[in-house]
Amino acid sequence: MIEPLHGGCACGAVRYTLSAPFDTGWCHCRICQKTSGAPAIAFTTARRENFAWTAGEDTLRVFNSSDFGRRCFCGLCGSLLTIEVDFQPDEIDIACASLDDPEAAPPTFHIFCKDAPSWAPIDDGLSRYDQFRPDTRGLEPGQTSAET
Ligand SMILES: [Zn+2]
Ligand SMILES: [Zn+2]
Repeated sequence: MIEPLHGGCACGAVRYTLSAPFDTGWCHCRICQKTSGAPAIAFTTARRENFAWTAGEDTLRVFNSSDFGRRCFCGLCGSLLTIEVDFQPDEIDIACASLDDPEAAPPTFHIFCKDAPSWAPIDDGLSRYDQFRPDTRGLEPGQTSAET
């Protein structure tokens, strides 16, 4: 049996649980930067059926951050919690730093490195991609941008 993971926002109003996270990575895109106030976001992915809000779902706020993506925040404290994209309808991305134990989902790659500021260098030796990975689930093979 796989132990479920738990997490939530800074003020504690919103809580969630997930199991079997996979494909954990960093995103350095401008939307991640603007919505977090940080130079990058580490996110992990779960199948929809393996993720559930367990408290405070009615306080969530949704920001349509692009033509294809949405982000959920705690409406009280502003913590960014999840990212959903239309091209991966069966999956949800969870901000790793919102986990109670961030060590449970270590990143294995970096995407949108083209947007990383010079003062936040990427030097951990993990795989790096300028935009999306060419094998991103839900995109055409070789497609690395979802802006068109
Ligand atoms: Zn909160
Ligand atoms: Zn991003």
